[in-house]
Amino acid sequence: MTLATQLLAWYYKNGRDLPWRRDKDAYKIWVSEIMLQQTRVEAVRDYYTRWLDRFPTPAALAQASEQEVLTYWQGLGYYSRARHLLAGVREVCAEYGGRVPDNPALIQRLPGVGEYTAGAIASIAYNQVAPAVDGNVLRIFSRLFCLEEDIAKTATKRAVERLVMQHISRQCPGDFNQALMDLGAMICIPRRPRCPLCPLADLCEAYRREVQDMLPVRAPKKAPQLVTLAAGVVQRAGKFLVQQRPATGLLAGMWEFPATEMGAGDVAAAQLREKFRCELQQTVEIEEKILQCRHTFSHRQWDIAFYRCQWLAGDKLREQACWLGKTELGTVPWAGPHHKMALALAERLPNK
Ligand code: SF4
Repeated sequence: MTLATQLLAWYYKNGRDLPWRRDKDAYKIWVSEIMLQQTRVEAVRDYYTRWLDRFPTPAALAQASEQEVLTYWQGLGYYSRARHLLAGVREVCAEYGGRVPDNPALIQRLPGVGEYTAGAIASIAYNQVAPAVDGNVLRIFSRLFCLEEDIAKTATKRAVERLVMQHISRQCPGDFNQALMDLGAMICIPRRPRCPLCPLADLCEAYRREVQDMLPVRAPKKAPQLVTLAAGVVQRAGKFLVQQRPATGLLAGMWEFPATEMGAGDVAAAQLREKFRCELQQTVEIEEKILQCRHTFSHRQWDIAFYRCQWLAGDKLREQACWLGKTELGTVPWAGPHHKMALALAERLPNK
């Protein structure tokens, strides 16, 4: 039996029942693949369902505002994914009459769509023979063929793509790619792969040599850079002062309580007072710390302390800042840990 036959036989018996597998709609597969980047399946399920209730078609999404789209993405992180998805779907509506193209090269030209996602959409939705090589597939093939090259290198990825193309099912390439996803999630897992349960065990070179725990080879990642911030929570007449982040860069366009980066030796109270005075034309007094938390992004980690502040005086706010009431706290997309602070405030405040 070939690798594809063995893998597919296992998949048809053991594959996961996932909401995005219930039909072959390319838009739905696209949404699920973007949500699943850097995010666990269990975390995606509810987001995916809510998303499709609100944006069931490319046309429905294309007409939505970016702020609404970000609010539906709130909590999934890596918000550029949502922005790119919106831009991509608008392009599909403008250029392709609302139908996702079936050619992987064309799919890959859409914003935010890489080779993996293009291969997944083309193979699953349109039965195109295309590889979909992500970290799971790199791990499985490194073990199957005992590849000792660093999987972060492009050359290794290309070698794995070639191997996938040699072994992919010509009849059911989408099922083959999904079977690899499931094998990587359930059997050929990163630590202590479950080789005795594996449908490919008799073909696996790493298992034969008993080196599966040493593969894949991956150069160590750099630790994320730690950034210390202080944020001010100012309440006035039941409303909170919030600010929108710039349109480009980390967490672009998301909302936050006014915050400032702290250098070594900086005093939070002085820094925050200055931030409110110079940037927002508000005079505040800094009171006690009400929340401290850490939030890790791909390349940096925020250590952020939120301080309750007393509002003393201030001018009219400029654009990119406003006062939000309790019910509005849940309607804007928040920047990372600011969501936690907003939720805590909404919980503490009486309903009005
Ligand atoms: S036999 Fe083990 S190492 Fe090889 S593919 Fe299967 S689970 Fe992975």
